[in-house]
Amino acid sequence: MDLFHNNPLFQGVRQMLGAFAKQSIRPIAIKHDQEESMPWDLMKTAATLGLSQTAVVDGRKKLTGVDEDPDPKKPKSQARLAVAGSEELAYGCAGICLAIGGSGLAASPVSRMGTEEQKQEFRRLLTGTDDKGHIRVAAMALSEPATGSDISGLKTTARPDGDYWVIRGSKQWITNGQSASVYVVWAQTEASAGRAGVRGFVIARDTPGLIPGKKETKLGIRASETAQVHFEDVRVHKDMMLGIGGEAAGGLADTKKMLDSTRPVVGAQAVGIARAAYEFLLERVQGGSLHGTPMASHQHIMFELAEMQMEITASRMLAHRAAWLADHHLDNVAEASMAKAHGARTAQWVTTRAMVLLGEEALEPGHPVEKWYRDAKIYDIFEGTGQIQRRIIAKHMTGQNPT
Ligand SMILES: Cc1cc2nc3c(=O)[nH]c(=O)nc-3n(C[C@H](O)[C@H](O)[C@H](O)COP(=O)(O)OP(=O)(O)OC[C@H]3O[C@@H](n4cnc5c(N)ncnc54)[C@H](O)[C@@H]3O)c2cc1C
Repeated sequence: MDLFHNNPLFQGVRQMLGAFAKQSIRPIAIKHDQEESMPWDLMKTAATLGLSQTAVVDGRKKLTGVDEDPDPKKPKSQARLAVAGSEELAYGCAGICLAIGGSGLAASPVSRMGTEEQKQEFRRLLTGTDDKGHIRVAAMALSEPATGSDISGLKTTARPDGDYWVIRGSKQWITNGQSASVYVVWAQTEASAGRAGVRGFVIARDTPGLIPGKKETKLGIRASETAQVHFEDVRVHKDMMLGIGGEAAGGLADTKKMLDSTRPVVGAQAVGIARAAYEFLLERVQGGSLHGTPMASHQHIMFELAEMQMEITASRMLAHRAAWLADHHLDNVAEASMAKAHGARTAQWVTTRAMVLLGEEALEPGHPVEKWYRDAKIYDIFEGTGQIQRRIIAKHMTGQNPT
């Protein structure tokens, strides 16, 4: 039972994606983890279920067949749908979940700050297949070799030149960095303006000077590609700068607001990993024995399972609450950070305890719990590290940035 239990829309999405996770994602998860390969065929199938690479720009219609109420003041369901669906997909495999949804990182700022022309161009660049016959994907390039948490120190620059901006710099740890057909790139347009000078640009992959770099080898979520991207005097038309279309300022402040919607989703993915490990352990306990007596009769094991269930439920509720606030256009800065930080902690804790309770079998490469243990760690790093979430929560409590 949870906040969505009597809502047919959320329940329907959860059931559909839960079945997809069990039947289609789980069977290929270990293979793609070990090969560090993207599940291109599955991503095509996912698109037919409405999990298209442009879903964030298109709104919820493709997934549910229902349009959002166009009145911007009315409550939406986008954030809660994303939270409900993401838990299920990550329950199947967090890496594959990110492979399916990674383009959403780029689609979010386009959806939030893009002009109609930019949205159309973004969709156009994601239509059809690429030269390898793969479904097209997008990348959001903000982080740099020396700049992750503190984005005011971006070194990538955008210099005006007539009707164009000329982008120069390198990005690192970019999801879909090698394979993307379109990039949303953040660059400093005016060094003296600090954060206010950082702007996003929509850039097609085949633009001269855009050079995908080295693919990273990672601890976890290995079915999702992470790579460097280099921009060597890439010329982008001024119409492709985000935030030129009126209401949205288009700078870094808008990107931060965007994170208030995506952090609950990341927290929900972490819940999916934790639930996967918990259910694996529960099944083992229900059928297994220890020192000749049923495992379920050992209090220390049952207490561990009870603790896990409490933490998973608490993390899920935090994600749902933060998403509900976003859907109702209410401030959720602290709640989004709580959902993300708590989910990450729960995933790491549950998978660590599951490793301990299962013993040496879980150390075998290819064991699902070993994989979930590795996947969980990333949730404490991307989309703002655990420390950064705590800074945001603390600032919300006191009005001050802790130093
Ligand atoms: C799998 C994966 C996918 C990613 N995908 C993308 C992507 O698609 N696009 C993109 O732009 N980026 C992406 N990233 C990058 C990610 O967002 C950064 O790794 C993250 O923001 C942390 O930055 P950093 O690694 O440079 O760490 P740093 O910012 O250098 O931090 C290092 C350590 O210092 C701590 N720290 C930093 N500042 C403070 C502070 N003020 N107070 C207390 N502690 C602090 C951090 O918590 C951390 O422990 C991805 C990363 C990973 C691992």
